[in-house]
Amino acid sequence: MSAVLFSEVRIFDGSGAASFAGEVLVRDEQIVAVARGDERLPRDGAELINGNGATLMPGMVEAHAHLTWPSSVERIVNTMKLPAEEHLLVTAQNARITLDHGFTSAYSAGSLGERFEPALRDMIDAGHLPGPRLRASALEKGVEGVMGVPAGHDPTHDRSIEGLRRYVAEMKALGCDTIKFLMSSDEGFSPGGSQVLMYSEEEAQAIGAAAREAGIWLACHAQASEAIKRAVRAGFRAIFHCTYADDEALDMLEDKRDTLFVAPAPGLLHARCHEAQDFGIGPVEAERMGATSGLALMQQVIPEMRKRGIRVLPGGDYGFPYNPIGRNARDLDLFVRLFGFSPTEALAAATGQGAALMDLPVGAIRAGCLADILLVSGDPTADVTILQDKANLAAIMKGGRFHKRPAATQH
Ligand SMILES: [Zn+2]
Repeated sequence: MSAVLFSEVRIFDGSGAASFAGEVLVRDEQIVAVARGDERLPRDGAELINGNGATLMPGMVEAHAHLTWPSSVERIVNTMKLPAEEHLLVTAQNARITLDHGFTSAYSAGSLGERFEPALRDMIDAGHLPGPRLRASALEKGVEGVMGVPAGHDPTHDRSIEGLRRYVAEMKALGCDTIKFLMSSDEGFSPGGSQVLMYSEEEAQAIGAAAREAGIWLACHAQASEAIKRAVRAGFRAIFHCTYADDEALDMLEDKRDTLFVAPAPGLLHARCHEAQDFGIGPVEAERMGATSGLALMQQVIPEMRKRGIRVLPGGDYGFPYNPIGRNARDLDLFVRLFGFSPTEALAAATGQGAALMDLPVGAIRAGCLADILLVSGDPTADVTILQDKANLAAIMKGGRFHKRPAATQH
């Protein structure tokens, strides 16, 4: 039995409540006790980590992960299509990089390899590879060529209701936790694409019914308002982007706010607007791809969702050369600067609410939860940008085991 006691820390518990001074005791894979103020926890047999005033918080949840998208802060790759063998290895590398940057959980928003993610999840869970807890996705389903969806999997090849039902059952049999559908296309794929609906109401309903029957979650890319509404009516659980949500769509999301999640993924749009010049995306291209207008729309829609209590989660669409995996924590800052979240609200969205998306006992510094913990130099409840520098992550613990040990105790 192993035990670790974190003392002299400021605790952000993931709920959104103010942080407090205290101690945290981890035994095996769980948090077993949290003390406040001057209360002292038993030290016998525990490895003592003195935080010296650092912040102890839950590991973050990436709510819209694409671990198969090749580019990371360690390795920029100028294509989405790699030979399968290399692609799988890069995906495993990206899992480790995601964890290195403080994300102990990742909810996939679509894979480029059909069996990559269930296999990767199982290798991580068994302790063979470092990476976040993963909710594994099926391939992205979309139009021919989009995001590398191979011809045989293009829904235009089998759009019969029976074909869609069969597909959902097949993905469940492959071991996927979630299936990603493109309910709308996107300006980034073709001009005007955001308003192009990819599935009819009947098709969406069939997908929803098949998923409930199979016991698998549904996630979707949805730009157009009607795409969002179809997804909500069909029982989709994670709805991405929601850029063009109108009042009716917002009402529908609010009605289901206890069962669904939104992940807008502003990081990619921000990168296209401001950081992609060297990759051939200047202001003109950014507008043509819908990034400039998309970000402006999100700045209206997401604050409205926040007011309505719809769970809007940070993260998303990292893995492009100009928006590499490893920068994911930047989304928290965009939530603060663009969407009106307080730093504490952004942190709660990335931890406690992210855990609800994962449907796992993580995302909280509370007895009984899995010990997915970050020890952060500085105070992220005052400034979330410090989470973007992994040097500020003094320790990363997942399931009670250090992925990164505090420097003083390294051996
Ligand atoms: Zn995405």
